[in-house]
Amino acid sequence: MATNRPSPARKLIVLCPTCGGDSVYGPENPFRPFCSERCKNIDLGAWASESYRVEVKPDPDQLPDEDLPPPVRPEGKG
Ligand SMILES: [Zn+2]
Repeated sequence: MATNRPSPARKLIVLCPTCGGDSVYGPENPFRPFCSERCKNIDLGAWASESYRVEVKPDPDQLPDEDLPPPVRPEGKG
């Protein structure tokens, strides 16, 4: 009874971070840990958009106060 061993070199299979599919983690897969170039690009795009996400909030110190009405002063002259 002969045992059929696939190959001495074990392939490391990881989950593709993008699609969750099987991905060969080895030199034969230049897109590792992704399963394909497409998945890699998708993940990189998501990462880039995430890093460029900047909250833009108005800074009161930089707003011109020309639109604001003049401060009301009590008429206490005299
Ligand atoms: Zn994938």
